[in-house]
Amino acid sequence: MRAQDTIAAIATPPGVGGIAILRLSGPEAERILTALCGRARWESHRLYYCRLRHAGRTLDEAMAVLMRAPRSYTRQDVAEIQCHGGEVVCRNVLEAALALGARPAQPGEFTRRAFENGRIDLAQAEAAMRLIGAQGEAAAREALRQMEGSVSRGVHAACDRLNAMLSEIAACTDFPDEIEEAPTARALCAQAKELAAALRAACDARRGRVLEQGLNVVLCGAPNVGKSSLLNALLGEARAIVTAQPGTTRDAVRGSLFLDGVRVHLTDTAGLRETEGEAEAIGVARAREAAEAADVLLLVLDGTRAPDARERELLAQTQRQARLVLLNKCDLPQAEGLPEGLAVSALTGEGIDALRDALRAMTATTRQDGALLTQARHVEAAQRAAGFLDEMAGALEAGLPVDFAAVDAREALAALGEITGENAEEQIVDAVFRHFCVGK
Ligand code: GDP
Repeated sequence: MRAQDTIAAIATPPGVGGIAILRLSGPEAERILTALCGRARWESHRLYYCRLRHAGRTLDEAMAVLMRAPRSYTRQDVAEIQCHGGEVVCRNVLEAALALGARPAQPGEFTRRAFENGRIDLAQAEAAMRLIGAQGEAAAREALRQMEGSVSRGVHAACDRLNAMLSEIAACTDFPDEIEEAPTARALCAQAKELAAALRAACDARRGRVLEQGLNVVLCGAPNVGKSSLLNALLGEARAIVTAQPGTTRDAVRGSLFLDGVRVHLTDTAGLRETEGEAEAIGVARAREAAEAADVLLLVLDGTRAPDARERELLAQTQRQARLVLLNKCDLPQAEGLPEGLAVSALTGEGIDALRDALRAMTATTRQDGALLTQARHVEAAQRAAGFLDEMAGALEAGLPVDFAAVDAREALAALGEITGENAEEQIVDAVFRHFCVGK
């Protein structure tokens, strides 16, 4: 019902700019466009020059286009008017459209109509929003891939396999005399396990988080090993375009840079300071927390001396974490008995490129698997589906009748349907679109 309203919004960001775009979608779009532009005949997808007039007054000179249904973003009639990008002009043009019968669009409502009219699915709608908000080249690339349907294709393939399994179950229960149950159950069990494994393998929520929020890299080590010097060396010329501000406390300095289009946040911690006073103790505790929250730890040692007891302890403690051991000050004579690590010099820059390469490898976003699920919402649903498939395999292994397995298969199908929105509750859909901007 709501889709019968004609909605309007300024689709460009607020503020002053060369042009701004008013967007309209709905059955009244053409009438409102005609009234505003004073042109009676519109060829679809053609740009026209016109003078915008309303209530006896000229508002602006503009270019306008009508995209008739279904060849439009929303699959409804869509009109876009490119007017001058001033706040007063925008407001006047939008108010005129509203006075002519449109209502203000809610956040994401154009995209929601595209979803509800079947032009895109929910995963694609989410990707469109991530593309707009992408912070780095890699995040934008991934969003574009998902907008073009990479997630949807993977989900559809899994659903096809589930539907095929359901047909086998149906055949088995419908023709008990012709189809033997035991071999069918064995085959179905193997298929369920295989699909569960494939779904789990397709999930990589960490990658999604790294793409959108960046990789957290924490430098830790004893005082004076050269952590802050290394941080500065890593930021390098990037310093001019990144923010490197002193931390709120004297124990942390931050900065960020892009590696292969992925934002990398660097934090330098006070590390293993002797805990004499209370403030020092807090600094150390904070450093430990930062180290634990890190995606990658850069454990910095001073290559001119052998590691002391604390450093050896730190080496042992962080063994299981994603980390790089750096032997700094390689420009000076090196000590005996150093652990394995990457020789670098914050002073001369030696080894810094190799360090960047090693970090780049650890961003691990170069994988190009077709149907990788990177969004928390998608990963959760896929894992739930995999759980139902586990239960299905379990039931079949336990020798329960095959139609028991059908119940689990349908649950798995429903969970997968949430990803594309084919089977999403209204509240899931609402939650997705709530974060959109107006005009999208
Ligand atoms: P932090 O306490 O670990 O942050 O260490 P700093 O970055 O403040 O460095 C401690 C001292 O070591 C400073 O005097 C630096 O100039 C020096 N330093 C840092 N890196 C190098 C290096 O690669 N070579 C040499 N020779 N000195 C370095």
